[in-house]
Amino acid sequence: MILDGKGLSARRLELLKEEIQGEKLSPTLATIIVGDDPASQMYVRMKHRACEQVGIHSVNIALPGDITTRKILDRIKQLNEDPDIDGILVQLPLPVSIDTDTVIASIHPDKDVDGFHPVNMGRLMTGLSGFCPCTPKGIITILTENKIPISGKHAVVVGRSVDVGRPVAMLLLLADATVTICHSKTINLIEFTKNADILVSAAGRAGIIRGDMVKPGAVVIDVGTNHVNGKLCGDVEFSEVEKIAGAITPVPGGVGPMTIASLMENTVMAARNRCTHFI
Ligand code: NAP
Repeated sequence: MILDGKGLSARRLELLKEEIQGEKLSPTLATIIVGDDPASQMYVRMKHRACEQVGIHSVNIALPGDITTRKILDRIKQLNEDPDIDGILVQLPLPVSIDTDTVIASIHPDKDVDGFHPVNMGRLMTGLSGFCPCTPKGIITILTENKIPISGKHAVVVGRSVDVGRPVAMLLLLADATVTICHSKTINLIEFTKNADILVSAAGRAGIIRGDMVKPGAVVIDVGTNHVNGKLCGDVEFSEVEKIAGAITPVPGGVGPMTIASLMENTVMAARNRCTHFI
């Protein structure tokens, strides 16, 4: 089974549009982009396009690449205090001259729709509700919407980054999977991947997951976004693995579109929270 993230994302966005209209919400997302990295600009454009599609207002704040951390913090403070702004997203990566951790920590946790603020990470860790990072949230949505059981399964996550590997491992654990996390220092990766009922690869290494590394019938989620000879591909050697896996996400058209859908859902959640604060 090919797990169609593109189709699922479109359906989720349509549903969200109806909810925004039905509940008479007027969510607003502010994005901040620093510098002129073309990939970051493309991602921000995609996010704004999705906002437009579902009826979320969006504003983009483009800042020069030589800006100081202090000036970004000042801008975020204004957005934190602006009652018309529900969600704030700082497009990553920031230039190396910027203190990224301080920037992320300066976003008000209730507006942190990317879910990277330490408070939201802590909420995730303790099982409290909060904003969940968008890619991990999208992965869980793919599994649940396709009625793939998680409870009691052995999930293996390749990658331990703060934005993908760790939070997706935590979400799988909260959904009662038994979770193994692998990383670049893991010895003999195949010994772990071969035993996975659910295999999530978020290493950012094209072709790292080959056919012989996958258990027959396993569910394979490919988070990787790699460019090889100008072509977008995942971490998974798709042509080999699709013959062995029970279900697999393609790249493109798998996890990527679900990341955007999750961002829109988080922004609407922020707007709903704002309404409840005012009641
Ligand atoms: P990252 O911060 O570079 O983390 C990569 C992780 O993979 C690290 O934990 C690293 O281990 C591990 N790793 C690297 N090589 C490995 C190897 N040979 N064997 C086992 N583990 C290995 O990247 P990220 O932000 O998590 O993103 C991962 C991938 O997902 C990238 O391709 C990124 O572009 C993509 N991505 C896609 C979306 C989407 O929406 N589709 C969203 C976010 C990210 P160490 O910790 O030991 O270094």
